[in-house]
Amino acid sequence: MKDIANLALAGHEPLFDSILPVGQLYSPSKERFHSVFHDLFDRRYYTNHGKLAQELERRLEERLDVRNAVVVTNATLGLSLSCKALGLPPQGKVIVPAFTFAATVQALTWAGLEPVFCDISNKSHNLDPQKVAALLEQHDVCAILGVHLWGNPCDIEQLQTLADSKGIPLFFDAAHAIACRYHGKPIGNFGACEVFSFHATKIMNATEGGCITTNDDELAERLRNLRSSYGRRKNVKTPIDGYGRFSEAQAAFGLLSLEDLSRRCDENCQKMALYHKKLSCIPGIHCISPAPEENMNYQYVVLEIDEKEFGLSRDALQKLLEAENVIARRYFVPGMHHCPPYETLFPEFATALPVTDALCTKVLQLPSGAPVSMDAVSRICECIAFVQANSADIKRTYFA
Ligand SMILES: *Cc1c(COP(=O)(O)O)cnc(C)c1O
Repeated sequence: MKDIANLALAGHEPLFDSILPVGQLYSPSKERFHSVFHDLFDRRYYTNHGKLAQELERRLEERLDVRNAVVVTNATLGLSLSCKALGLPPQGKVIVPAFTFAATVQALTWAGLEPVFCDISNKSHNLDPQKVAALLEQHDVCAILGVHLWGNPCDIEQLQTLADSKGIPLFFDAAHAIACRYHGKPIGNFGACEVFSFHATKIMNATEGGCITTNDDELAERLRNLRSSYGRRKNVKTPIDGYGRFSEAQAAFGLLSLEDLSRRCDENCQKMALYHKKLSCIPGIHCISPAPEENMNYQYVVLEIDEKEFGLSRDALQKLLEAENVIARRYFVPGMHHCPPYETLFPEFATALPVTDALCTKVLQLPSGAPVSMDAVSRICECIAFVQANSADIKRTYFA
């Protein structure tokens, strides 16, 4: 790009012919899917904890080195089922970050619980243990729900100490964190239980789906009972039935996705490294790096844009990129404490989360999944560098 008139926002052709989304969208080939799926037509056993769902659970237990993997319809339901299996009381209060996907908090609401929104650490974007400790003193809390955002593990050790000090369960939304580790141990082994998402936009794709993992066999049995009458090992009492079945079609897709998981992590890693190499020298751009000593899945390329240094706002950059067919996203804006129904139900949190609110003005994710080649990454970075170098002109011409 040589001239700001060549920007798609100015009416020029976009940089890319088709859109580049943030979602991972990795899928197995049609042929491989068929090879796993075809005998379903003969077996005519489509759901109710069939052969493929059982095999997927076994492989997940192996891969994550955890005693129990319970696959369910999706992660949101998995979180709600976890609340029920943990026996959290009606209207109980649960500490949760507001800087997360809506489903984390909505799963609590569906389970009849109330969120107590907690601020996060500026550095990790995860629950800040000091702020958790303060909230534990102010509220009668029955559980802590952490989110391993962008696949970066929470400060699990400190959170567990806090939960233990109150005798309440800690559990995790691990929707971003499959194939990630904490102190060398796979995510999936921490807290009372952890919940993964296999939504098509996540690195492990079962089209839809989720999985709850736990090393607590009794909790696992309650989860299996909540899920469906199929797949139970023994009947145990649960407060309500959950219907979180996982179909054989989901399992077929999921098995192949799990087979490919390490390769996808490597591909993502290469793209992230290239992004970081090319973007970190641009004024006003700060790349969020994964925890260095941990294995990661690198599925989210996350930036913070400093408007003053960059010369344009995060929102202006997003608009410019969108015109080029680069669909960058502002996850998770606004924070859940500013979203319905919570903003009216719990107005006391409106000004209580300064780090979350500041981050919400800066954060941006770039495309990195299957539709994005290494060459595309280079071109996206060059476009951003061009925008920054010409930010004053662009601001005057298009954003005055
Ligand atoms: C995707 C996601 C979920 C929801 O997962 P589903 O499988 O779509 O229900 C929950 N929490 C976070 C942080 C997510 O990104």
